Amino acid sequence: MTKRIQKPTAERLSEINEKLEDGTPQEILLWAHQEIGNDLALMSSFGLEDMALLDMFWRITPDARVMTLDTQRLPTETYTLFDQASARYGIKVEAFYPDMDEVRAMVEEHGYNLFYKGVDNRKMCCGVRKVEPLGRALDSVNGWITGLRRDQGMERGGIDIVEWDAAHDSYKISPLADWTFEQVEAYIAEFSVPYNELHDRGFPSLGCDPCTRAVEPGEDIRAGRWWWETDPDAKECGLHLVAPASK
Ligand code: SF4
Repeated sequence: MTKRIQKPTAERLSEINEKLEDGTPQEILLWAHQEIGNDLALMSSFGLEDMALLDMFWRITPDARVMTLDTQRLPTETYTLFDQASARYGIKVEAFYPDMDEVRAMVEEHGYNLFYKGVDNRKMCCGVRKVEPLGRALDSVNGWITGLRRDQGMERGGIDIVEWDAAHDSYKISPLADWTFEQVEAYIAEFSVPYNELHDRGFPSLGCDPCTRAVEPGEDIRAGRWWWETDPDAKECGLHLVAPASK
């Protein structure tokens, strides 16, 4: 798609963020909808944050676009939620899949469960199954909504609500940047939003089935992601690191 939006100046981005910093997630979504229109999509992993955002976005526009990356290694419960969300909100989830030739080549050389054999292998798998499809998905939008929250730590602590994603020539909008996990849970309960049943079994953060485990009470909420890796700073799949978003 030919991008129909221009990169905002640094001054303009600052103005936007100043205006939205104290806004509610709904006000931020409304701004994004008015600014970007139908070339805006929620990029959803169908985790708790993304389900809250889907509900908010749908209340602003029933034409809310929802995209997901189907890595082909997701838990069965996540696929069940795809269907539940489609039925509840009357939406068609736009799923993006890995290039199966790339998957075949990777698996033939490194094995199906290559991610357990080192961080480089794991990042290769995330690259093939997530990062490359994300690029294709974002080719068709001018703005993407994410469920990132600042208190998730690592690089997420410094995100702005609205950033310019230079890698994809798109706005990147994080309406829940200032929310806590407890606020997300409260929203889900208040509006009876459907959610992944794995959350009730100790999975606060969800990803691919072989790379996610339940966490113990009191553990960091992302401790169950790539739990066998010891470097906490490496615990990102690359979706939010492919190119630093310019602020
Ligand atoms: S989370 Fe695991 S299975 Fe999923 S793409 Fe990354 S390494 Fe592969």
